Amino acid sequence: MFKAIRIGILLFILFFVAVSTLLTQARSTDWDSSLWVKIYPINADGSEVSRGYIDKLEVKDFSGIEAFIDREIARYGRDLRRPVRIELGREITEQPPALGGEPSAWRVMLWSLKIRWWASSVTDEQDNPAPDVRIFVRYHSPSDAFRLENSVGLQKGMVGIVNAFASRGQKGSNNVVIAHEFLHTLGATDKYDPADGNPTFPEGYGEPDRSPRFPQRLAEIMGGRIAISALDAEIPKSLRYAVIGEQTAEEIRLR
Ligand SMILES: [Zn+2]
Repeated sequence: MFKAIRIGILLFILFFVAVSTLLTQARSTDWDSSLWVKIYPINADGSEVSRGYIDKLEVKDFSGIEAFIDREIARYGRDLRRPVRIELGREITEQPPALGGEPSAWRVMLWSLKIRWWASSVTDEQDNPAPDVRIFVRYHSPSDAFRLENSVGLQKGMVGIVNAFASRGQKGSNNVVIAHEFLHTLGATDKYDPADGNPTFPEGYGEPDRSPRFPQRLAEIMGGRIAISALDAEIPKSLRYAVIGEQTAEEIRLR
């Protein structure tokens, strides 16, 4: 009897979570109301440089992302004022759970559950009501000349974790990565080759019909880079050099 009640309650909770996830996902791409995106800085390397950078952060440092989404959805014939509204949250003093070890399907699934749990618990005291999308930006000192670990954006749970450089000069390219991960949370997929990072043709190109094809002048946001030649691509300096391509537009239901 008790066991049946327990299972019943559990099923009810699971059902509730599934329905609310579906509703959030449908609402996040209906493009008729503003999406509220909150950005939380994290000092990833504990450095003074990252500390100073985070202390000076202002919400307007991220306005390029709002302008990008604004411009691109208008290009697809949507007229919604401020489709994305960005807010800057307070610093988070905890690091997100790491994936750790060889990524397997099971490990990734478990980790994404952990991230969702972590994201809502760590923002609990500052988020009432909760935003639609949460993006955690981990700042690293630019003098650490290492390759930043990959950033992630999870559609389930609407959470992104971005690795970024604590430098004014990298503000624009940081915003490119944030916009990329944000669009993942809406269901957009990657359009680059994971082996070398080069965008895939034609869907990962900003101007796939351009002739001659190289050099491209723009990046497709989910391709992530501007294809300079067939073998070489670079991350755009700012979102002014990025577009939402047709396949991405379909994935986030702009078309
Ligand atoms: Zn991606």
